[in-house]
Order: sequence, then structure tokens, then C-alpha cells
Amino acid sequence: MDNVFKLITGRTLTQGTSMESEGKFSERYHKAVAVIELNPEDIKRLEIRDKVKVKSQYGALVLPVKPSNEVPPKVAFIPMGPWANSLVEPITDGTGMPRLKGINVIIEPTDEEVTKLEDILKSYGVKYFEYKPEQRPLKPGPRRRVENVPCPFCGDLCDHITIELKGERIVKNIGGCAISISKFLNYHRDRILKPMIRDEFGKLKEVDLETAINKAAEILANAKYPLLYGWSSTCNEAIELGVELAEVTRGVIDNTSTLCHGPTALGAQEVGTARATLGIIKHLANLIIFWGCNPIHAHPNHIVRFVLSEGKYIKGRKDRKVVVIDVRKTTTANMADIFIQVEPGKDLELITALRMAVRDLEIEAPVVAGVPREKILELAELMRTARYGVIFAGMGLTMTGAKQRNLQELIKLAHDLNEWTRFAVIPMRGHYNVTGANHVKLWLTGYPYAVDYSRGFPRMIPGVTTTIDLLVSGDVDAALIVASDPVAHLPQKAVEHLAKIPVIVIDAKWSLAATLADVIIPAGLVGIECEGTAYRMDGVPIRMKKIVDPPPGVLCDKEILSMLLEKVKKLKGIICPKS
Ligand code: SF4
Repeated sequence: MDNVFKLITGRTLTQGTSMESEGKFSERYHKAVAVIELNPEDIKRLEIRDKVKVKSQYGALVLPVKPSNEVPPKVAFIPMGPWANSLVEPITDGTGMPRLKGINVIIEPTDEEVTKLEDILKSYGVKYFEYKPEQRPLKPGPRRRVENVPCPFCGDLCDHITIELKGERIVKNIGGCAISISKFLNYHRDRILKPMIRDEFGKLKEVDLETAINKAAEILANAKYPLLYGWSSTCNEAIELGVELAEVTRGVIDNTSTLCHGPTALGAQEVGTARATLGIIKHLANLIIFWGCNPIHAHPNHIVRFVLSEGKYIKGRKDRKVVVIDVRKTTTANMADIFIQVEPGKDLELITALRMAVRDLEIEAPVVAGVPREKILELAELMRTARYGVIFAGMGLTMTGAKQRNLQELIKLAHDLNEWTRFAVIPMRGHYNVTGANHVKLWLTGYPYAVDYSRGFPRMIPGVTTTIDLLVSGDVDAALIVASDPVAHLPQKAVEHLAKIPVIVIDAKWSLAATLADVIIPAGLVGIECEGTAYRMDGVPIRMKKIVDPPPGVLCDKEILSMLLEKVKKLKGIICPKS
């Protein structure tokens, strides 16, 4: 059919900056994410004026249209957020990862009103929608500078940033990207500052911290199978307490990698890894390949640090060959030396063909995954002759049909290349400590995410103990959400179950999850108001700094979780040996 498109979802710069500056309830954020990008040819062909109705097997929406030459014909792009997620496929095929890219949708012109956030939440069965943002009071004081501050936004954890403050107001961010500047300069806005619980009339009312902790502990202690979700935007010390809480409640602890790089972890379990630190890449790599990622939008400083800047043995951009492999001709593709446009959902074919070319095996087909054979041979030769090569792997690989198989083959490709030269695969991690969330669980339980304690010992069964499967099947009966927003980022079927069970939210800022929560506990922002340890995307630990005190009466995640754990243990009758 002429109006069937492949839907791709992903991060954009305006999605990141608007979320960090004005929050998810602002008009600016809605404008940034409630939009669909279509190729001008398709707009003309379907006689679209300014809006379209988009239908998938799972939902329907009306969205304004933005013409874009980045998307090829018959492909549609919607930025990551509640609008995109109300259309995506909740089925994980036994992997835990829903399909967030390459979904079939039908698009037709319409004059209907653009779908509002409230309409989406109502369609999920969300009964309550209360949003009570506050600005944290900022004490005046002298101007001061803090050097080498790590940025608590994405997995790059850039730790060269200088922050200037006037009292408690952050007035300047030197060295951070646009998202980092939005995050630091607006850290005081859109805050949760008071603990709240939902009363018998469904209204949120302010309570003291002890009352909120007691209520949260009661929910977790009474649950038969709670889900403890989030953990990618907090410190390792808090995650450690989360694992213990999962053990004492016999629940599941899962992190956001369940719907980003979970398939990368599954691929690594099968075939191992081919890793390097970002330092090695900066100083040695002369071939940089971005596959299924768009760092100019999602990790803006990454390009400056690992493509443009000088390394010990690299003089800068002119010494590096940059290749982008993607479905869309993204902004990152526009600055690359070579762009390879792969057909949606065909990355596995292309990786397999590259493996054959690297081993000098004959590729019979003239075109593979939309890429001419000559281009594949050229890229294979470039890879074999690189002094040091790296593939930065994005969610374009983990979220399409082949999921972990893409990553297995990609890692095997790097293994093959290491017979010729030195080559690494580094996943482009989204949240600043999603790598820590995987590592801490690995040390403590042997599994990187979706760790289930229902039998008293840790186990991980992708497709069963993964968040989306647990929520879609309705298996969990309570949820604790730490520093995350599953309502904005999970498929609609999963959110529908969250709306039915008691939910506890521990967070610094308002999220869609907070609007439906039964208990809300405010927290300090790690990396600004609280210190702790986080792991960069390459697994290097970085100490997060505290540059201002948390707001009066607000504690850090690790302190809140420690109080909650103690209370749950008491309610469960678990006696701890005296230390
Ligand atoms: S690239 Fe990521 S970590 Fe670095 S400054 Fe930008 S948002 Fe922060």
C-alpha cells in the first residue's frame, strides 16, 4: 500500500534540551516530540497539508508534519517520547526489548486536532494527572567556579566542564554541550521538593518524609512481586541498595537498558566483547564508524572529543576517516566522509556481508540491504587497513528486528578485524550511568539487568523477567521507580499496567510517572546536589561531584533508599546482625 511507512523513533537535540530546560509538561517539549518527519516526496504524493493521522497495530495519533530530507521516502521519524511510544510494538520476542524502530504504520492526511498528552495518558487508563512543579529556592552568595565537573546527562560523562555559580544559582557552563547547558542552568526548575502521597480521594497531598517512606515501605513489603525500575540516572551506591531491596522484597530489579542496550549485553553474553576505552579512541583511532546512532543530537560533545579534537597520535579531524551507517541521512551523516544508507531492519544482512568481505569471501548479490556490493568491499578494505578502528553502536541496531543478533555479528566482525588490525565496538549509552546500572548488578548478582529474586536467588530470563514483559503480562503488583520515567518511554501496553498498580517515585524532577504515582519522594540531583560514582559508556568509573547542597529537607537517592530498605526489612521481620 502506498501509505504504509516504516516508523523510526529516536533522540533529537531539541527533545533533550527542552526536556532539561522546561520539562516534559512544557509547550517547548511537546513541540519537540509531538511531530512526525516525512520526506517531501511523500508529503507531495499523499497531498498532506500540515497534519497526518498515524496508525499502528497498537495505537493512533494525529501529529503535525515536518518535511525532512533526512528521512528516505516511505520512512517516518518521530522523536522519542510519549507520542512515539503510544505507537510502538510491546512484543519483545523473548528478548525484553520492544521493537521501537522499523514498525509498520499507516499515514494519511487529516484535519483532526493534534493528539494531546492528556489524551494519550487517558487512553492508557491513567486515572490521575497531577503536576505540581516547584522551583528550588536559590540562596544568594559570591561568584565561584568549580572545575572538571562531570556532566550527568549522557553516557559520555564529559568530565572537563567548568561550572560558574552565583550563590546556589548556576550561571555558566563552560565546555558542556547544549543539553548539558540546559541541564545545569535549569537544575532548580520543575522540581519535586516535598514528599507526597495520594489520599483516599485520589489527590496528592504533602506529607513529611517519614510518612512517605513508611507508605512506600508498606507498599513494597505487602507486594508479592514488585518491580524496581530505573537506576540509570543515579549513582552506583544507590543501585547497590536497590539490589538489596529487590532481594528482601523478592522482586525484580531492572534498569533502562532493558529498552536501549539490553540486546548489546545479550550479544556480549554470547560472543564476548571487543572493547577499548574512549582515551584509546581519542589518541589512536583513525577510523570512526557510527552505526545506528546520531551523536550530534544525542551525545553532542562526542563529536568534539573523539572526531574533531587532537589525540596523541592523531592531529584532529583530517587524520580521521568518519563513516556513518544509518537508515536516515542524519546530521552526523552530513559531516561524515562516507554515508552508507541501509534499508530499515536490514543491518544484520549488511554486517554479515561485511564479515564475508573482510574474509575475502565472494558476495554474489549486487546489492545487500540497499547497499551496492562495491561500497561494501570499499568499507571492508577501509576497516582492514585502519590503524585503529571503532564502531560506535547505537540503538538503530538494538531496537530493530534482529536485536541482539545484530550486536553478536557486529562484535564478531570486530573479532575478525582484530586478525588484521585493532578494532573495537563501543555501545553509545544514553543515560549517564546506565553502564553503572549494568555493572553494579553484574558484580552483585551475575546479571546485567532484569534480575529476579522471586525464588530467593538471582536469575535473569530475557522476555520473562524484563520490565516490558512483566508489565504487559500484568505479573508485577507494585513498582518503585528511581530517577526514570517509564510512562514517557515504555510502550503503551506496559504503561497501562503501571496505571493499575501502586507506584512509588523517587526523583528530583517531575516526570509523567510522578503524575500517576501513589507516593512521591523528592531527591537531590546526582552530579549537581549529590556525589557518587557513575560509569562512563566505556566502563571507566567517574566520581560525580556535588557543587551545591540539596534543597532543604531533600536527601540524596542513597540516603532515601537506605531508609526505605531498613523500613522494609523491619516490616518483613528481617533482623540484621549488629555491625
Ligand atoms: S555529550 Fe553528554 S555528557 Fe557530554 S556534555 Fe553533552 S550531554 Fe553532557
